[in-house]
Amino acid sequence: MPTNDHALTGFDSPRILIVGAGPVGLFLALKLAQSGINSTVIEKEDSTSKLPRACGHAGIVQHEFAKIGIYDKIKAMGGFISVGPCWRKPLIDNDSGGKDLGEMVANFKKHKTVDPSMPPGSGTLHFPQAKLSELLLKEAVSTGRVEVRFNSDLESIQDNIDDTVSITVKDMTTGSSFSLSGTYLVGADGATSKTRKLLDIPFAGYTWDRKLLATDVLIYNQPGEESPHPTSFIMDETHFGVITPLMEPKQGTRSLWRYTIGLPVNDPRSNDELLGPEYVESIYENYMPGPRPLDYEITNKSIYSIHQRLASTMRRGRVLLAGDAAHICNPFGGLGLNTGFLDVMALHDSLVMILKEGYSDELLDIYSDERRRSFQMFVDPMSTYNLLRVISKDAEKTTEDDWYFRALKNGNRRVLKSLEKQVSENWATDMRAILRADGDEMQL
Ligand SMILES: Cc1cc2nc3c(=O)[nH]c(=O)nc-3n(C[C@H](O)[C@H](O)[C@H](O)COP(=O)(O)OP(=O)(O)OC[C@H]3O[C@@H](n4cnc5c(N)ncnc54)[C@H](O)[C@@H]3O)c2cc1C
Repeated sequence: MPTNDHALTGFDSPRILIVGAGPVGLFLALKLAQSGINSTVIEKEDSTSKLPRACGHAGIVQHEFAKIGIYDKIKAMGGFISVGPCWRKPLIDNDSGGKDLGEMVANFKKHKTVDPSMPPGSGTLHFPQAKLSELLLKEAVSTGRVEVRFNSDLESIQDNIDDTVSITVKDMTTGSSFSLSGTYLVGADGATSKTRKLLDIPFAGYTWDRKLLATDVLIYNQPGEESPHPTSFIMDETHFGVITPLMEPKQGTRSLWRYTIGLPVNDPRSNDELLGPEYVESIYENYMPGPRPLDYEITNKSIYSIHQRLASTMRRGRVLLAGDAAHICNPFGGLGLNTGFLDVMALHDSLVMILKEGYSDELLDIYSDERRRSFQMFVDPMSTYNLLRVISKDAEKTTEDDWYFRALKNGNRRVLKSLEKQVSENWATDMRAILRADGDEMQL
């Protein structure tokens, strides 16, 4: 077993290099800083991303947010909890010339679903990724242990013989290059990860034949009874999708919603055409409940290809992968970023144990194996079937035929418990519990 020369002697060294100031990279930087470990984050863009991406954060992640002191800040910035979601048939015409949400064909729970006062873990926390990244950046930098360098593009990686790793980085504003060294390097640089490519790590899997149109849109919430299920999966063979609130949807006020809508198989149009106002309006005509003519304001929009892919390893020497750089899945069910945050929790614990408690860095092999197992056993199949369930010709028939929907409908305790077990046994990785189970042979 290799010796560990890097147990911390003080707070000045060692330093972790992180590629990517996305939510995963910044979450890792913040958690490491709170454990007394310094990091430098490089980000090729000039700010954190504003794109319409994740918005639903799972209970297990909320508890971690509370632990690191950002849960209440998220609530104060408009984050709220909902319990749901539900699945619906496509929208229907109403008597006033407008459209109503289609009939609900399956759902999780029927009680009141939006409650800002609910404690962590009571349901799904809604908070847009762009705002979360801004908060994580602010919190990380304010620790004094995190340096973030924007406009800095990773160019090359050198795993040195002196037990450090160095990177060459291009300063996008001047065109010149500089180098940085650290004890470990973490590639949190998203699905197209240059870290992964530079290490020649395969990213096997496939790309779906459908794209998604994701828009953040301000809509007037019609007065009347509050919908008991603010997040609706729309079941349709072509324009399947999900409608979810980004702000607490109070009746009689305008609030921000995310519409994520499937596009036809192998749609030949360019992304610019798909994002054009006429096309988006034509989709909304059939997708947005409420009176006509439609009254909305789009604040953000993007087209996404969707994939199921997993890196063949999440560790190569002193370089680790986390988040989308290591695994990607379609966004139905919110298993992308949540899984990335669970990577960070396991990686943070591993690095603390190696750098501060004298454990062997073979722990990082366990990190790689366990997080890849999580994707293979849970995230990949679950997200795949979350998507296949909404691509449905006949929502009623699908919910009758599929054991998952039948269990939701009839509350079959055995099946629901097996689903819970699947989550609890396969999603998160508790490094300390694994070591206890394996006999804790890694402490040097
Ligand atoms: C429509 C949609 C909805 C989604 N909804 C959810 C949801 O509700 N819940 C959920 O859990 N997940 C969801 N996801 C998935 C989620 O958005 C991703 O899993 C998440 O963005 C991954 O974060 P990351 O930090 O790993 O990568 P990214 O967010 O991609 O960040 C990577 C960062 O690295 C930077 N970078 C890249 N290359 C370099 C380089 N060479 N040098 C320096 N920096 C570099 C990038 O500029 C970027 O800032 C959704 C995705 C989509 C598309």
